[in-house]
Amino acid sequence: MMRIFSRNKGQAASRVDRRSDLRRERPPRNRSNPGAPLVLYIAGSGRSGSTLLERLLGQIDSVATLGEVHHLWARGIAKDESCGCGKPFGECEFWRRTGEMAFGGWKNVDMEDVEKLHNAVDRQRYLPLTMLPVVPPAFARQLAAYSGYYGALYKAVQELSGASVIVDSGKHPSLALALSHNRDIDLRIVHLVRDSRGVSFSWAKSVKRPESTNPEDDLMKQYSSLVSSALWVSTNLAAEALRWRAVPRTRLLYEDLIADPVATIDRLRDVLNLPITGQLKLVGPGTVDLKANHSVAGNPMRFRRGETTLRPDAEWRKAMTKKDRRLVSLLTAPMRLWYGYTGR
Ligand SMILES: [Zn+2]
Repeated sequence: MMRIFSRNKGQAASRVDRRSDLRRERPPRNRSNPGAPLVLYIAGSGRSGSTLLERLLGQIDSVATLGEVHHLWARGIAKDESCGCGKPFGECEFWRRTGEMAFGGWKNVDMEDVEKLHNAVDRQRYLPLTMLPVVPPAFARQLAAYSGYYGALYKAVQELSGASVIVDSGKHPSLALALSHNRDIDLRIVHLVRDSRGVSFSWAKSVKRPESTNPEDDLMKQYSSLVSSALWVSTNLAAEALRWRAVPRTRLLYEDLIADPVATIDRLRDVLNLPITGQLKLVGPGTVDLKANHSVAGNPMRFRRGETTLRPDAEWRKAMTKKDRRLVSLLTAPMRLWYGYTGR
């Protein structure tokens, strides 16, 4: 049995109202075209628990989870890394059929065009443009072409799987902003936030990538506490910019999710109007029985199957050096306190 750690339940439950948006925000009017696939995009800093949230959502019938789709082009198509089901991307039937339906086969995807468009619209520096309600025509054409690749892929997944909700745990707010301009995608955003100290401690760890097909890709990225603090602030600020786009969004704290996953996902469903019929089922106290999935990229947790117990994570509180903890606490203080992460 695998274990995942969380805060103690009572402590986190008492904080839900104060720090999560789940009971406060109401989704704006849905502006997507009829028949558009409903995509729940998980935005936020790396190491905030997006893979866990996605895996929990994936336990519910009618939800299809895809992992971090922005990695599909390089890690899936080009490098043939493993799908969450364990097969190489090129041998996974789910992705083969998706590529066939979306593009007539992955060989027809112009990888240079995807990369070029990515650099033209899906970067944090374009935020002042992508957060606007109307953008210049030339930029709008690039946004349409770029988000069109994602739209075609989501649509194929919707038709092949019959899922009513498709989860993309891409995290990058810049991609969510780009997708929000495409009315052929019924986009809903959950902004996932985790205590900056826990995030920074996680970024400092050396973590193997079991899906690697190249020695250069054997480890997940690592950052110093200085860099991870800057990333935490800039990514969460960028995710806050999504409130200016007319798409349903809410903010969710990782600590609240892990303390009470069933109630938290129920609230997420309600506040974002997600057409989910079932409910997350536990097989024991705080324990889920993770089933296989076709996550194309993400944290190694995407490969985990079977019974997994959610428990308080106190490792960074004990193992983080005083110097790092002080530095991260200070550098992230305004946003950290605004999100309600008080204490040292
Ligand atoms: Zn697969």
